[in-house]
Amino acid sequence: MVEHHPLIVIGAGPAGAVVAALLKRRGHPVLVLEAQHFPRFSIGESLLSHSLDFVEEAGMLPAVEAAGFQTKIGAAFAWGERYTDFDFRDTYSGGRSTFQVQRGPFDKILADDAARQGVTIRYGQRVTAVTLGEDGERTRLEVQGDDGQAYALTTDFLLDASGYGRVLPRLLDLEAPSDFPVRRALFTHVEDRIDDPGFDRQRILITTHPTLRDVWFWTIPFSDGRTSIGVVAAAERYAGRAADLATCLR
Ligand SMILES: Cc1cc2nc3c(=O)[nH]c(=O)nc-3n(C[C@H](O)[C@H](O)[C@H](O)COP(=O)(O)OP(=O)(O)OC[C@H]3O[C@@H](n4cnc5c(N)ncnc54)[C@H](O)[C@@H]3O)c2cc1C
Repeated sequence: MVEHHPLIVIGAGPAGAVVAALLKRRGHPVLVLEAQHFPRFSIGESLLSHSLDFVEEAGMLPAVEAAGFQTKIGAAFAWGERYTDFDFRDTYSGGRSTFQVQRGPFDKILADDAARQGVTIRYGQRVTAVTLGEDGERTRLEVQGDDGQAYALTTDFLLDASGYGRVLPRLLDLEAPSDFPVRRALFTHVEDRIDDPGFDRQRILITTHPTLRDVWFWTIPFSDGRTSIGVVAAAERYAGRAADLATCLR
């Protein structure tokens, strides 16, 4: 007997957790399948203000505010001696400050809050195949548990929130090549020891390379004295550089 769920979401990252909570709040029972166990590392730490609108709509803002993340009021851009900053609260339509978050704890807070609101989340469960239901047939998923168990589920509605997993595009052969130039990012977290009182921890700092204008760096300070730093460049810029990523980043 194959287990049936009216609504299944793939992935318990911010998109999956928020959409699952929003659906549950509208009275729909939701099952979320998440391949990993939380907390887990992810990149994408400097939230745009608008992201918080969805977090708020899903009833998760109090949990996020209580976590003590670094407040983010905007962004700053630097190139050589030039420096310009923007305040996200300073908009005609009414802006808001947001947060710079370590994604391990942040994503877990959202997922735990979805569970608190009645969403069922199964961790360590990877969706490996999908057959879309046609002509009244139910959509069928094949799932691999990290306990080695493989099983099938059926659903009426399937929502792909797998982010970089790109589950449905991959499994249903829908992927198309992007015509954006390929960029590669190297990043890490450091204990920053920034004691310059002029340094603004409440903004993401984007610094462009002095001469290579397509190369840029991010500096995203957290509230615990650590900072996310990264460099983004065209993939060709890495040619001939150290294969060891730590050395290359340094
Ligand atoms: C270098 C870089 C820097 C970035 N910086 C920022 C930033 O500063 N600010 C910002 O807002 N965004 C940033 N982003 C974008 C940000 O990372 C993403 O927008 C965000 O993580 C997307 O969230 P999500 O919930 O859609 O997906 P994800 O966070 O990718 O979560 C998807 C979840 O689905 C699960 N999953 C995947 N495959 C399966 C499967 N087969 N079965 C079950 N579960 C599965 C994964 O385990 C994962 O937990 C950055 C991205 C990159 C690459």
